[in-house]
Amino acid sequence: FLAFGLAAGMAACAPAGTTNSDSEGGDGVECNVGISMPTRSLERWINDGEGLKENLEARDCTVDLQYADDKTDQQISQIQNQVAGGAKILVVAAIDGETLGPVLEDAKSQDVTVIAYDRLINGTDAVDYYATFDNYKVGQLQGEFIEEQLGLADGEGPYNLEPFAGSPDDNNAKFFFSGAWDVLLPYVESGQLVVPSGKSPASNDDWASIGILGWGSADAQAEMDNRLQSFYTGGDKVDVVLSPNDSLALGIEQSLSSAGYTPGTDWPVITGQDGDVANIKAILADQQSMTVWKDTRELGAQVDTMIEQIVNGEEVDVNDTETYDNGVKVVPTYILEPQVVVKDQVQEKLVDSGFVEAGDVGL
Ligand code: BGC
Repeated sequence: FLAFGLAAGMAACAPAGTTNSDSEGGDGVECNVGISMPTRSLERWINDGEGLKENLEARDCTVDLQYADDKTDQQISQIQNQVAGGAKILVVAAIDGETLGPVLEDAKSQDVTVIAYDRLINGTDAVDYYATFDNYKVGQLQGEFIEEQLGLADGEGPYNLEPFAGSPDDNNAKFFFSGAWDVLLPYVESGQLVVPSGKSPASNDDWASIGILGWGSADAQAEMDNRLQSFYTGGDKVDVVLSPNDSLALGIEQSLSSAGYTPGTDWPVITGQDGDVANIKAILADQQSMTVWKDTRELGAQVDTMIEQIVNGEEVDVNDTETYDNGVKVVPTYILEPQVVVKDQVQEKLVDSGFVEAGDVGL
Protein backbone atom coordinates (compact mmCIF):
# COMPACT_ATOMS: atom_id res chain seq x y z
CA PHE A 1 0.00 0.00 0.00
CA LEU A 2 1.09 3.48 -0.69
CA ALA A 3 0.07 5.91 1.81
CA PHE A 4 0.62 9.51 1.19
CA GLY A 5 -0.64 11.87 -1.39
CA LEU A 6 1.30 14.83 -0.15
CA ALA A 7 1.33 18.38 -1.22
CA ALA A 8 4.05 19.19 -3.68
CA GLY A 9 6.93 21.08 -2.15
CA MET A 10 7.00 19.13 1.08
CA ALA A 11 9.99 17.17 -0.09
CA ALA A 12 11.95 20.38 -0.25
CA CYS A 13 13.21 19.97 3.29
CA ALA A 14 14.05 16.28 3.06
CA PRO A 15 17.62 15.72 4.10
CA ALA A 16 20.18 15.37 1.36
CA GLY A 17 20.59 11.83 0.19
CA THR A 18 17.17 10.68 1.28
CA THR A 19 15.31 11.36 -1.93
CA ASN A 20 15.17 8.10 -3.76
CA SER A 21 14.65 7.82 -7.46
CA ASP A 22 13.21 4.31 -6.99
CA SER A 23 10.59 5.57 -4.59
CA GLU A 24 7.10 4.36 -5.34
CA GLY A 25 5.13 6.95 -3.53
CA GLY A 26 6.01 10.24 -5.12
CA ASP A 27 7.01 13.33 -3.24
CA GLY A 28 7.79 12.18 0.28
CA VAL A 29 7.66 14.37 3.37
CA GLU A 30 9.83 16.57 5.47
CA CYS A 31 11.62 14.63 8.19
CA ASN A 32 10.22 16.63 11.05
CA VAL A 33 9.25 14.20 13.79
CA GLY A 34 7.36 14.56 17.05
CA ILE A 35 7.99 11.71 19.47
CA SER A 36 5.51 11.36 22.33
CA MET A 37 6.48 8.94 25.08
CA PRO A 38 4.34 8.14 28.14
CA THR A 39 6.70 8.66 31.06
CA ARG A 40 10.25 8.97 32.25
CA SER A 41 9.47 6.86 35.29
CA LEU A 42 10.21 3.65 33.42
CA GLU A 43 13.66 3.13 32.04
CA ARG A 44 12.48 1.54 28.85
CA TRP A 45 10.65 4.67 27.65
CA ILE A 46 13.74 6.80 28.24
CA ASN A 47 15.83 4.36 26.19
CA ASP A 48 13.15 4.14 23.52
CA GLY A 49 12.76 7.89 23.14
CA GLU A 50 16.41 8.81 23.25
CA GLY A 51 17.48 5.93 21.01
CA LEU A 52 15.00 6.87 18.31
CA LYS A 53 15.86 10.56 18.56
CA GLU A 54 19.54 9.78 18.09
CA ASN A 55 18.87 7.61 15.02
CA LEU A 56 16.72 10.28 13.44
CA GLU A 57 19.07 13.15 14.18
CA ALA A 58 21.90 11.16 12.63
CA ARG A 59 19.90 11.48 9.41
CA ASP A 60 19.38 15.19 9.90
CA CYS A 61 15.75 14.94 10.88
CA THR A 62 14.26 17.56 13.16
CA VAL A 63 13.06 15.85 16.33
CA ASP A 64 10.97 16.96 19.28
CA LEU A 65 10.89 14.35 22.06
CA GLN A 66 8.34 14.75 24.85
CA TYR A 67 7.42 12.73 27.93
CA ALA A 68 3.95 13.12 29.42
CA ASP A 69 4.27 12.02 33.07
CA ASP A 70 1.68 9.31 32.41
CA LYS A 71 -0.96 12.05 32.10
CA THR A 72 -3.24 11.80 29.09
CA ASP A 73 -4.08 15.52 28.98
CA GLN A 74 -0.40 16.36 28.97
CA GLN A 75 0.21 13.91 26.13
CA ILE A 76 -2.62 15.46 24.11
CA SER A 77 -1.30 19.00 24.53
CA GLN A 78 2.26 17.92 23.76
CA ILE A 79 1.06 16.34 20.52
CA GLN A 80 -0.91 19.50 19.66
CA ASN A 81 2.22 21.56 20.20
CA GLN A 82 4.32 19.25 18.08
CA VAL A 83 1.90 19.54 15.17
CA ALA A 84 1.67 23.32 15.60
CA GLY A 85 5.47 23.37 15.63
CA GLY A 86 5.66 21.70 12.22
CA ALA A 87 5.90 17.96 12.91
CA LYS A 88 5.01 15.96 9.80
CA ILE A 89 5.41 12.55 11.37
CA LEU A 90 4.25 11.60 14.87
CA VAL A 91 5.53 8.62 16.83
CA VAL A 92 3.21 8.04 19.76
CA ALA A 93 3.39 5.56 22.63
CA ALA A 94 -0.08 6.23 24.03
CA ILE A 95 -0.75 6.47 27.74
CA ASP A 96 -4.42 5.72 27.19
CA GLY A 97 -5.04 3.93 23.90
CA GLU A 98 -8.63 5.20 23.72
CA THR A 99 -8.31 8.95 24.08
CA LEU A 100 -6.00 10.19 21.36
CA GLY A 101 -8.46 9.99 18.42
CA PRO A 102 -9.46 13.67 18.23
CA VAL A 103 -5.94 15.13 18.50
CA LEU A 104 -4.62 12.68 15.91
CA GLU A 105 -7.53 13.32 13.57
CA ASP A 106 -6.64 16.96 13.79
CA ALA A 107 -3.03 16.14 12.96
CA LYS A 108 -4.16 13.93 10.08
CA SER A 109 -6.14 16.81 8.60
CA GLN A 110 -2.78 18.60 8.37
CA ASP A 111 -1.20 15.67 6.49
CA VAL A 112 0.69 14.35 9.45
CA THR A 113 1.56 10.64 9.36
CA VAL A 114 1.00 8.81 12.63
CA ILE A 115 2.95 5.79 13.86
CA ALA A 116 1.68 4.05 17.00
CA TYR A 117 4.75 3.04 18.96
CA ASP A 118 4.67 -0.14 21.08
CA ARG A 119 1.02 0.49 22.10
CA LEU A 120 -1.86 0.58 19.66
CA ILE A 121 -4.11 3.64 19.47
CA ASN A 122 -7.78 2.66 19.27
CA GLY A 123 -11.01 3.98 17.84
CA THR A 124 -9.64 6.19 15.08
CA ASP A 125 -8.52 5.90 11.48
CA ALA A 126 -5.86 8.54 12.17
CA VAL A 127 -3.17 5.97 12.84
CA ASP A 128 -1.21 4.89 9.79
CA TYR A 129 1.22 2.31 11.12
CA TYR A 130 2.02 0.39 14.25
CA ALA A 131 5.38 -0.99 15.36
CA THR A 132 5.57 -3.27 18.37
CA PHE A 133 6.83 -6.48 19.85
CA ASP A 134 4.49 -9.44 19.70
CA ASN A 135 2.45 -8.61 22.78
CA TYR A 136 0.52 -11.88 22.92
CA LYS A 137 3.82 -13.75 22.70
CA VAL A 138 5.20 -11.79 25.67
CA GLY A 139 2.43 -13.25 27.83
CA GLN A 140 2.73 -16.65 26.25
CA LEU A 141 6.44 -16.79 27.09
CA GLN A 142 5.61 -15.90 30.70
CA GLY A 143 2.90 -18.57 30.88
CA GLU A 144 5.09 -21.22 29.29
CA PHE A 145 7.95 -20.35 31.61
CA ILE A 146 5.72 -20.93 34.64
CA GLU A 147 4.38 -24.14 33.09
CA GLU A 148 7.89 -25.45 32.60
CA GLN A 149 9.36 -24.31 35.92
CA LEU A 150 6.57 -25.97 37.89
CA GLY A 151 6.30 -29.11 35.74
CA LEU A 152 2.62 -28.43 35.13
CA ALA A 153 2.55 -30.38 31.86
CA ASP A 154 3.76 -33.42 33.84
CA GLY A 155 0.87 -33.12 36.24
CA GLU A 156 2.73 -31.40 39.12
CA GLY A 157 0.86 -29.29 41.66
CA PRO A 158 -1.10 -27.92 43.31
CA TYR A 159 0.79 -24.63 43.48
CA ASN A 160 -0.41 -21.29 44.83
CA LEU A 161 -0.48 -18.69 42.06
CA GLU A 162 -1.06 -14.95 42.30
CA PRO A 163 -1.76 -13.44 38.88
CA PHE A 164 -1.36 -9.74 38.05
CA ALA A 165 -2.29 -7.79 34.92
CA GLY A 166 -1.15 -4.50 33.44
CA SER A 167 -2.84 -1.14 33.18
CA PRO A 168 -6.44 -1.38 31.91
CA ASP A 169 -5.98 1.71 29.71
CA ASP A 170 -2.97 0.17 27.91
CA ASN A 171 -4.00 -1.80 24.86
CA ASN A 172 -1.03 -4.13 25.31
CA ALA A 173 -2.10 -5.32 28.72
CA LYS A 174 -4.91 -7.53 27.46
CA PHE A 175 -2.56 -9.18 24.97
CA PHE A 176 0.00 -9.87 27.71
CA PHE A 177 -2.66 -11.37 29.94
CA SER A 178 -4.33 -13.44 27.21
CA GLY A 179 -1.01 -14.91 26.12
CA ALA A 180 -0.24 -16.04 29.65
CA TRP A 181 -3.75 -17.06 30.63
CA ASP A 182 -4.24 -19.23 27.55
CA VAL A 183 -1.38 -21.32 28.95
CA LEU A 184 -2.26 -21.12 32.66
CA LEU A 185 -6.07 -21.15 32.88
CA PRO A 186 -6.34 -24.88 32.03
CA TYR A 187 -4.12 -25.60 35.05
CA VAL A 188 -6.28 -23.38 37.25
CA GLU A 189 -9.29 -25.31 36.00
CA SER A 190 -7.60 -28.66 36.67
CA GLY A 191 -6.64 -27.57 40.20
CA GLN A 192 -2.87 -27.74 39.57
CA LEU A 193 -2.80 -23.99 40.10
CA VAL A 194 -4.78 -22.56 42.98
CA VAL A 195 -5.35 -18.83 43.45
CA PRO A 196 -5.89 -18.27 47.19
CA SER A 197 -6.77 -14.57 46.72
CA GLY A 198 -9.52 -15.49 44.28
CA LYS A 199 -8.07 -12.93 41.85
CA SER A 200 -8.31 -15.39 39.05
CA PRO A 201 -10.12 -14.13 35.95
CA ALA A 202 -12.61 -16.73 34.71
CA SER A 203 -11.70 -15.83 31.15
CA ASN A 204 -9.26 -13.64 29.26
CA ASP A 205 -11.96 -10.98 28.92
CA ASP A 206 -12.04 -10.42 32.69
CA TRP A 207 -8.37 -9.47 32.95
CA ALA A 208 -8.97 -5.77 33.71
CA SER A 209 -10.43 -6.69 37.12
CA ILE A 210 -6.88 -7.49 38.28
CA GLY A 211 -5.14 -4.74 36.27
CA ILE A 212 -2.83 -2.26 38.00
CA LEU A 213 -3.79 1.14 36.60
CA GLY A 214 -0.71 3.09 35.51
CA TRP A 215 1.72 0.16 35.87
CA GLY A 216 3.13 1.53 39.15
CA SER A 217 5.49 -0.52 41.34
CA ALA A 218 4.05 0.95 44.53
CA ASP A 219 0.50 -0.03 43.55
CA ALA A 220 1.61 -3.57 42.74
CA GLN A 221 3.39 -3.72 46.07
CA ALA A 222 0.27 -2.55 47.94
CA GLU A 223 -1.86 -5.09 46.09
CA MET A 224 0.56 -7.89 46.90
CA ASP A 225 0.71 -6.75 50.55
CA ASN A 226 -3.09 -7.02 50.68
CA ARG A 227 -3.14 -10.45 49.16
CA LEU A 228 -0.45 -11.75 51.49
CA GLN A 229 -2.08 -10.26 54.58
CA SER A 230 -5.58 -11.41 53.71
CA PHE A 231 -5.13 -14.81 52.12
CA TYR A 232 -1.87 -16.28 53.38
CA THR A 233 -2.46 -16.14 57.11
CA GLY A 234 -2.41 -19.84 57.87
CA GLY A 235 1.19 -20.50 56.84
CA ASP A 236 0.31 -20.93 53.15
CA LYS A 237 3.00 -19.75 50.77
CA VAL A 238 2.88 -18.16 47.35
CA ASP A 239 4.60 -20.49 44.88
CA VAL A 240 4.34 -18.42 41.74
CA VAL A 241 3.45 -14.90 40.64
CA LEU A 242 2.45 -14.00 37.11
CA SER A 243 3.70 -10.44 36.71
CA PRO A 244 3.21 -8.91 33.27
CA ASN A 245 6.21 -6.60 33.48
CA ASP A 246 9.23 -5.53 35.46
CA SER A 247 7.75 -2.47 37.16
CA LEU A 248 5.02 -4.60 38.74
CA ALA A 249 7.49 -7.39 39.49
CA LEU A 250 9.64 -4.94 41.44
CA GLY A 251 6.79 -3.94 43.74
CA ILE A 252 5.70 -7.55 44.19
CA GLU A 253 9.28 -8.52 45.08
CA GLN A 254 9.46 -5.77 47.69
CA SER A 255 6.23 -7.00 49.19
CA LEU A 256 7.48 -10.60 49.32
CA SER A 257 10.68 -9.49 50.92
CA SER A 258 8.84 -7.48 53.61
CA ALA A 259 6.67 -10.51 54.29
CA GLY A 260 9.80 -12.54 55.01
CA TYR A 261 10.19 -14.60 51.86
CA THR A 262 13.84 -15.51 51.22
CA PRO A 263 15.57 -16.05 47.87
CA GLY A 264 16.85 -19.58 47.48
CA THR A 265 14.38 -21.03 49.99
CA ASP A 266 10.71 -20.08 49.73
CA TRP A 267 10.91 -17.33 47.11
CA PRO A 268 8.25 -17.86 44.41
CA VAL A 269 8.74 -18.13 40.67
CA ILE A 270 8.09 -14.64 39.33
CA THR A 271 7.93 -13.36 35.77
CA GLY A 272 8.66 -9.94 34.27
CA GLN A 273 9.13 -8.01 31.06
CA ASP A 274 11.50 -5.29 29.79
CA GLY A 275 14.93 -6.03 31.25
CA ASP A 276 15.01 -2.93 33.48
CA VAL A 277 18.27 -2.54 35.39
CA ALA A 278 16.63 -3.00 38.81
CA ASN A 279 15.04 -6.23 37.60
CA ILE A 280 18.20 -7.57 36.03
CA LYS A 281 19.77 -7.09 39.43
CA ALA A 282 16.81 -8.91 40.99
CA ILE A 283 17.31 -11.77 38.52
CA LEU A 284 20.98 -11.97 39.44
CA ALA A 285 19.99 -12.00 43.14
CA ASP A 286 17.44 -14.83 42.61
CA GLN A 287 14.52 -12.52 43.36
CA GLN A 288 13.04 -12.68 39.88
CA SER A 289 13.00 -15.77 37.68
CA MET A 290 13.04 -14.22 34.24
CA THR A 291 12.24 -11.19 32.17
CA VAL A 292 10.75 -11.11 28.69
CA TRP A 293 13.24 -8.94 26.93
CA LYS A 294 12.25 -6.67 24.11
CA ASP A 295 15.34 -5.16 22.59
CA THR A 296 13.97 -1.66 22.28
CA ARG A 297 16.87 -0.75 20.02
CA GLU A 298 15.32 -3.03 17.40
CA LEU A 299 11.98 -1.29 17.75
CA GLY A 300 13.64 2.10 17.43
CA ALA A 301 15.54 0.94 14.35
CA GLN A 302 12.35 -0.37 12.75
CA VAL A 303 10.50 2.87 13.36
CA ASP A 304 13.49 4.75 12.04
CA THR A 305 13.22 2.67 8.85
CA MET A 306 9.48 3.38 8.64
CA ILE A 307 10.15 7.09 8.93
CA GLU A 308 12.85 6.94 6.29
CA GLN A 309 10.43 5.18 3.96
CA ILE A 310 7.71 7.72 4.65
CA VAL A 311 10.13 10.58 4.07
CA ASN A 312 11.22 9.04 0.79
CA GLY A 313 7.67 8.40 -0.29
CA GLU A 314 8.36 4.67 -0.40
CA GLU A 315 6.18 1.78 0.56
CA VAL A 316 6.45 1.22 4.33
CA ASP A 317 7.59 -2.26 5.43
CA VAL A 318 5.11 -4.10 7.61
CA ASN A 319 4.86 -7.82 8.38
CA ASP A 320 1.34 -8.07 9.76
CA THR A 321 -1.97 -6.78 8.43
CA GLU A 322 -4.35 -8.92 10.49
CA THR A 323 -3.70 -8.77 14.20
CA TYR A 324 -4.13 -5.23 15.39
CA ASP A 325 -7.69 -4.09 14.79
CA ASN A 326 -8.22 -0.78 16.57
CA GLY A 327 -11.98 -0.88 16.20
CA VAL A 328 -11.97 1.32 13.11
CA LYS A 329 -9.24 -0.26 11.00
CA VAL A 330 -6.71 -3.04 11.07
CA VAL A 331 -3.50 -1.10 11.47
CA PRO A 332 -0.58 -2.25 9.28
CA THR A 333 2.03 -3.40 11.76
CA TYR A 334 5.65 -4.36 12.04
CA ILE A 335 5.89 -7.01 14.78
CA LEU A 336 9.18 -7.90 16.46
CA GLU A 337 9.97 -10.98 18.54
CA PRO A 338 10.41 -10.83 22.31
CA GLN A 339 12.65 -13.34 24.09
CA VAL A 340 13.08 -14.81 27.55
CA VAL A 341 16.16 -13.92 29.58
CA VAL A 342 17.06 -15.93 32.71
CA LYS A 343 19.96 -15.50 35.11
CA ASP A 344 22.64 -17.33 33.14
CA GLN A 345 21.76 -15.43 29.95
CA VAL A 346 22.11 -11.95 31.42
CA GLN A 347 25.75 -11.61 30.45
CA GLU A 348 25.39 -12.87 26.89
CA LYS A 349 22.02 -11.39 25.93
CA LEU A 350 21.91 -8.14 27.87
CA VAL A 351 25.49 -7.15 28.64
CA ASP A 352 27.44 -8.45 25.62
CA SER A 353 24.85 -6.95 23.29
CA GLY A 354 25.34 -3.58 24.96
CA PHE A 355 21.74 -3.32 26.19
CA VAL A 356 23.02 -2.68 29.73
CA GLU A 357 26.45 -1.95 31.18
CA ALA A 358 28.00 -4.72 33.28
CA GLY A 359 28.76 -2.20 36.05
CA ASP A 360 25.16 -1.00 36.22
CA VAL A 361 23.92 -4.48 37.07
CA GLY A 362 26.83 -5.35 39.36
CA LEU A 363 28.61 -7.74 37.02
C1 BGC B 1 4.95 -1.92 27.37
C2 BGC B 1 5.81 -2.61 28.39
C3 BGC B 1 5.90 -1.77 29.64
C4 BGC B 1 4.52 -1.29 30.10
C5 BGC B 1 4.62 -0.29 31.21
C6 BGC B 1 3.61 -1.60 27.96
O1 BGC B 1 2.78 -1.01 27.04
O2 BGC B 1 4.80 -2.74 26.22
O3 BGC B 1 7.09 -2.83 27.83
O4 BGC B 1 6.47 -2.50 30.68
O5 BGC B 1 3.83 -0.72 29.04
O6 BGC B 1 5.22 0.89 30.80
